[in-house]
Amino acid sequence: MSTSEQITVVGAGLMGHGIAQLFAAKGYKVWLVDDNADVLYSTKERIGSNLRDMRSKGVDFEADINLILDRINITTELGSACKGSDFVFEAVFENLELKQNLFAMLDRLCPPKTILCSNTSVISITEIAMKAKNRERIVGTHFWNPPYLIPLVEVVRAEESTSWCLSAVYDLLKRVGKHPVHVHKDVPGFVGNRLQHALWREAFAIIDEGICDPATVDEVVIHGFGLRLPTLGPVETADMVGLDLTLAIHNYILKYINADPTPSTTLQAKVKAGELGFKSGRGFMEWSESDVSESRKRLADYLIGVFAEQQK
Ligand code: NAD
Repeated sequence: MSTSEQITVVGAGLMGHGIAQLFAAKGYKVWLVDDNADVLYSTKERIGSNLRDMRSKGVDFEADINLILDRINITTELGSACKGSDFVFEAVFENLELKQNLFAMLDRLCPPKTILCSNTSVISITEIAMKAKNRERIVGTHFWNPPYLIPLVEVVRAEESTSWCLSAVYDLLKRVGKHPVHVHKDVPGFVGNRLQHALWREAFAIIDEGICDPATVDEVVIHGFGLRLPTLGPVETADMVGLDLTLAIHNYILKYINADPTPSTTLQAKVKAGELGFKSGRGFMEWSESDVSESRKRLADYLIGVFAEQQK
């Protein structure tokens, strides 16, 4: 399958290269832009390696891997990458001013038909769009890492986004096999990261208070309620359990659950001490190089396995 629609991805880092891979594997011509030439020139190797890894684990592609890679054009020139683009996906650093200036520039460079999407994790799309003139064509598309394996994309309506642009993006994402959802209010963190970080805040508060050790927090999730999550979300679970019981539980427990507006004291102390997790060998837990590789491999194998299964 190939299509005449053209996609531009700005930022070729962790998310950008994966978004480019997603569209190229589905037959789209992709322009991938980064202002760091070193990042850019290693991108095709990275995407090729992802695709080969997926294929070795049973994922089928509609085209040969070299053909998929040939659909991706890399450049440091934003102007040439935007000229014929139908959709631009921005995946640069998580910095409001950088994104505001980039969207103002994209708005000047792109033809009127182009829809401009930001992959920000938590920043308000309305704020990101502020310096652009044609704000009606700017929407949020929050992918999850890795974007070619995790189906969800939150399609976020900013204050001035038009329904037409939101539908066009939603339909595009459907066509490439994603699971888009509409987020009607442009609130920081959207839906997924609000839920995720509410859980992380409580996890860290439990560690701060010495209720159990960090590894036990993860065991409780992985071997407990986490087992339900791939098939039953919290809302359906509440309905299943019964809202009367849910209310009784909340009446008792909510006052004990952390609601601090500032990050956990342990988290702050660890960052100050340079204990950053995998990248420094120690975070909440100790990480040898082999632990780090094993953990990354476990996640990749699991996600590719789920993806291959869904493809059948
Ligand atoms: P990253 O640091 O891996 O990549 C960002 C890339 O943008 C870098 O290669 C950088 O050179 C490039 N860049 C910066 N300014 C640029 C410019 N003006 N023009 C062109 N390229 C530029 O970051 P990432 O993890 O891929 O995150 C990108 C965005 O996606 C962020 O907004 C982040 O919050 C969001 N996001 C990240 C994740 C995740 O798990 N990492 C998940 C969802 C969303």
